[in-house]
Amino acid sequence: MAGPTIEDLRERARGAVVTPDDDGYDEARKVYNATADRRPAAVVRCANAGDVMAAVDYARETGLDLAVRGGGHSAPGFGTCDGGVVADLSGLRGVRVDPANLTARADPGATWGDFNAATSAFGLATTGGIVSTTGIAGLTLGGGFGYLCRHLGLTCDNLVSADVVTADGRFLTTDAERHPDLFWALRGGGGNFGAVTSFEYRLSPVGPVVAGPMLFELEHMGSILRFYREFIRDAPEQLFLFPGFQTAPPLPFIPENRHGDVLGIVVVCWSGPPEDADRVLRPLRDLAPRVAEAVGPMPYPAINSAFDALLPPGLREYWKGSFATELTDEAIAVHLEHGPQVPTLSSTTHIYPLNGAPQRVAPEATAYSYREAAFSTVILAVWDDPAGDEEKSAWVRDYYTALSPHSEPGGYVNFMGADDQDRVEANYRGNYARLAAVKRTYDPDNLFHLNQNIKPAA
Ligand code: FAD
Repeated sequence: MAGPTIEDLRERARGAVVTPDDDGYDEARKVYNATADRRPAAVVRCANAGDVMAAVDYARETGLDLAVRGGGHSAPGFGTCDGGVVADLSGLRGVRVDPANLTARADPGATWGDFNAATSAFGLATTGGIVSTTGIAGLTLGGGFGYLCRHLGLTCDNLVSADVVTADGRFLTTDAERHPDLFWALRGGGGNFGAVTSFEYRLSPVGPVVAGPMLFELEHMGSILRFYREFIRDAPEQLFLFPGFQTAPPLPFIPENRHGDVLGIVVVCWSGPPEDADRVLRPLRDLAPRVAEAVGPMPYPAINSAFDALLPPGLREYWKGSFATELTDEAIAVHLEHGPQVPTLSSTTHIYPLNGAPQRVAPEATAYSYREAAFSTVILAVWDDPAGDEEKSAWVRDYYTALSPHSEPGGYVNFMGADDQDRVEANYRGNYARLAAVKRTYDPDNLFHLNQNIKPAA
């Protein structure tokens, strides 16, 4: 190995540099998905942007792989690696709200829980993920769907500026005016273009929401899915709702004799005037009897953390996803066949709606290109015993394969598995050539390659 030594890196970095010989190594190498059980040569617990520059320089100068970790939630475990350097940003979690300008600046290790806690104090929010433990960084860079996206747009559509450490170790601030090609690529292009050390978001007023899950008998899911595809088309944009399949957890609002049963689920979040919620949700409630329901008024951060306990860190995970412009009868038939076979309590399928504000942005306006997709489906298996790896992944794979003829060739990069690298061009379609050109400008040697990888143009 040429170049600087670990001691040089330690001298330069303010944060700890954790190697296999150090106490805490096993904790430092851990990411959310336990199948990513990797052994990096060094984990740099970055304390500031300077440490990120140090980690990037070290990886480039030694020729080691570089993994960048924000919230660590990547399903393929891109936030760690074997034998390389991890720039671990997860300790940087500050969020500063500027209520006068309706913006917030967030550190790259912040989670949506951190972000929402800070912004909700001002009655403000931006589109974030469904689960509060997910990192803002990876989610924003891939696009970003969540409860508020039908009226506020994707998370990346609310990105105002970003500070980035590029592959050559430079620190750049980028926005619509400064390095606009880089700013364009960051909004959907994933972690391909550099390590982002600060994100600035546009905020919007978001008051209490009326939100929560409704659970239905499986026999009603056909009519619910057919209803959903029509209803969501014209539903007010402050309504986000998604159907799926779910094993009933042992929660007090669910009758005890149904705990452990596989049921249909519809999660709703109404962020319009609370007094309108009953009227807006009435057609859904009238459709079929509910086995259980826990929909009610709550602060936005409460719905954002309502499902955290179902998806704790440290379990084994396998994910796949695809976009669809229509939820066809054939696709519904696939869901009805495979969805009820969810293999464990935390495994699920969700069909997210993306019509509304996300579709009003032109496909070439940001790297995220699938603007006409009205639905994004994610299928995820979650289990704890390594002996279940093959069987649990097979459920996801078979389901996804059956759905593919009724889906777009591309999908959401943040719902892809490690085995989806051959879909990267399809995910970006007409934007891929421009992304490859931007990649050549900012990362010609593909230092940032542990992601859904965009290769530098030749
Ligand atoms: P990490 O594993 O830290 O990073 C993910 C990718 O981004 C890696 O390639 C990494 O290198 C890169 N990256 C991370 N930080 C930086 C940085 N600062 N600069 C440059 N590159 C960086 N997605 C949604 O859109 N909506 C949801 O509701 C949603 N819910 C989810 C719920 C759970 C429980 C999980 C596990 C995932 C969910 N996702 C959702 C998917 C999520 O968007 C991705 O897993 C995302 O990559 C997580 O970001 P992270 O920072 O936590 O992950």
